Amino acid sequence: MAGAVAVKDRQWLPIAEIATQVNAGGLKAVDLVEQSLRTIADKAEYQAIIATLDDAARARAVAIDAQVAAGKSAGRLAGVPFIAKDNYLVFGADTTAASNILRGFQAPYQSTVINRLEAEGAICVAKANLDAFAHGGSTENSDFFTTKNPHDLTRVPGGSSGGSAAAVILDMAPFALGTDTGGSIRQPASFVGAVGFKPTYGTTSRSGVVAMASSTDVMGPLTRSVDDAALVYDVFAGPDLLDSTTIERDSAGYTDLAARDLHGVKIGVIKEYFEASLDAGVRSVIENGIAKLKAAGAEIIDVSLPSLPLALAVYYIVVPAEISSNLSRYDGQRYGYSNPDAKNLEDSYSGARGRGFGKEAKRRIMIGTYVLSSGYYDAYYKKAQTVRTKLVNEFAEAFTQVDFLVGPTAPTTAFKIGENTADPLQMYLADVMTVGPSLAGLTAIVVPTGLSDGLPVGMQLMAAQRADRALLELAKCAEELFV
Ligand code: GLN
Repeated sequence: MAGAVAVKDRQWLPIAEIATQVNAGGLKAVDLVEQSLRTIADKAEYQAIIATLDDAARARAVAIDAQVAAGKSAGRLAGVPFIAKDNYLVFGADTTAASNILRGFQAPYQSTVINRLEAEGAICVAKANLDAFAHGGSTENSDFFTTKNPHDLTRVPGGSSGGSAAAVILDMAPFALGTDTGGSIRQPASFVGAVGFKPTYGTTSRSGVVAMASSTDVMGPLTRSVDDAALVYDVFAGPDLLDSTTIERDSAGYTDLAARDLHGVKIGVIKEYFEASLDAGVRSVIENGIAKLKAAGAEIIDVSLPSLPLALAVYYIVVPAEISSNLSRYDGQRYGYSNPDAKNLEDSYSGARGRGFGKEAKRRIMIGTYVLSSGYYDAYYKKAQTVRTKLVNEFAEAFTQVDFLVGPTAPTTAFKIGENTADPLQMYLADVMTVGPSLAGLTAIVVPTGLSDGLPVGMQLMAAQRADRALLELAKCAEELFV
């Protein structure tokens, strides 16, 4: 059972327990950091990590232990090592977004999410690999290297937060940060057997995270358990003056989750997810999981979202449009790769962008520029936004009938390295189940549900915007049922 993979094999204590023991002096932050760095070195063959922050992490650990020795609390995440996807701006290492154009870039400020975690005593030990600029679902679009799946070295860990997901299952740290624009936390969580949480759009600050598509970019944790995810999210969720799209927190917070009695809870099963080309093994694990929710008392209701089959097409118009705009800042003038052979300004721009961006970033810039250009805007971008609104309305309507929606996270388990690289469309199809909730800004979480041919499968649980707390409670219950 994947539950066994995800929970029982873990080398780290639950995060709350680590912090309690560090604050009590029973565990030392310096030892935790060493454990983390050692594991990263021992498991280098998986290529989950782009850089470690050895000196900065060790210095922070010493400071935290000293704070505790002086009788002061070091916070709710005291001494807890973590790994950040390399699109978070962090001091102490370069921030590359796994792209050549940002090689050697040093952040002049840190992400709000990182600052909030550090304020509670967490220690960033490393930066994880990703598809360059988070464009992809396998880490094969990284300009540096491909991360391997912890369950099978010949398979991808998913993506784009594949390095973060693999790192958690390889026990490199108790948690890792991912970003999710169209599934980049959820799909890798399903592929490696981790919990992956994509919170409601706007509850997590985008400040200091390399922008992909600003209308769906969300920050979230990858962990071994729902409680761990809830605690980490609780520390960084909430409004931020540096991101005007942020919204209020739930006044109840996101920890001390109630054990949910599923009697009276209405769970909608999204019909369209089972009609798309769904692998038979994945289908059976998910159906099994749904049967367990039903046996525990939930009322299972079939739900249809007629526009959902269009979500992928909408996503691959709206998101490249936003990407083309967000990536225009990389022009080789103020930071990032600069063309040393440039004879004039145009040379400088085209050289920096032509050499610095990888194939996938260029593909998305071209698609995005095309759908936004005059003459095509109405036919593509405007039409896509209209269908997006329809989809948002269909989700809203569904949540008047049910409390939660569930379905698979991806059509398959982790695929082989190289299997989908020849055909970008094939790669995009892996996102068919995660992009809908992103376009609608919903909250969604993936919980390890079972194994198919020895590979993990996670169920995707979804709820309305701002229902993050209720969703985490359902996920906690599901996690226990699926073990
Ligand atoms: N795989 C999707 C894409 O390539 C999602 C990426 C993401 O969420 N960052 O766009």
